[in-house]
Amino acid sequence: MDYSEQQRREYLQAMGIEVWLPRGADTAEAAELTTSAEPTDWNELRDCVSGCTRCELSRSRTQTVFGVGNPDADWMIIGEAPGAEEDRRGEPFVGRAGQLLDQMLLAIGQRRESVFITNILKCRPPNNRDPKPAEAAACRDYLERQIEFIQPKIILAVGKIAAQNLLGSDATIGHMRESQHERQDDSAYEFKGVPLVVTYHPAYLLRSPSQKRKSWSDLRLAARLAGERGA
Ligand code: URA
Repeated sequence: MDYSEQQRREYLQAMGIEVWLPRGADTAEAAELTTSAEPTDWNELRDCVSGCTRCELSRSRTQTVFGVGNPDADWMIIGEAPGAEEDRRGEPFVGRAGQLLDQMLLAIGQRRESVFITNILKCRPPNNRDPKPAEAAACRDYLERQIEFIQPKIILAVGKIAAQNLLGSDATIGHMRESQHERQDDSAYEFKGVPLVVTYHPAYLLRSPSQKRKSWSDLRLAARLAGERGA
């Protein structure tokens, strides 16, 4: 950190504003990227996300995709990243995969408005490529803060990319599903003791409808765990 950066942080501290750095990021680099005060409520968090320039995706996005639904939801659904349509509309899961996700939710008595749906990344990766580790790291605080504010009873990770990031694992989805996960190591996200269940991404289920039966079993597991926690 150079002197002016040090000075800037001292000013912020003197004003009672914490400098909010992505955990695990290199401090000097992160300080260059982020000097935002830690958001203390949902609207501040939303504003932080919409003005975010922590990674290069901020230059190619149309808009950020914060998430949709109920900020007091019992269920939190976490996917990978916005696609083209989500980037255009500013809402996650709005394409065909989104319609299937809505149906999956209805099958367990939930509506899009009653849960909260978001992604590992809040910005669209160009050409829908997989998120880079640095992009996920830059976005991680936002998702952890969403979990902290919502305090869901259950987290449903949809798809391999979401599950691998959340769990800090490179296991296949076949290995990650059918279990109740808890935070595993320091590289995984903090989900505050909320149980997490992994299932297939709805885009994959559109291509492989024979796997829908397994996904239904995952949803029932998630519903049981949510029920045990009073949902
Ligand atoms: N796929 C995702 O993982 N997230 C979206 O928002 C849309 C498609």
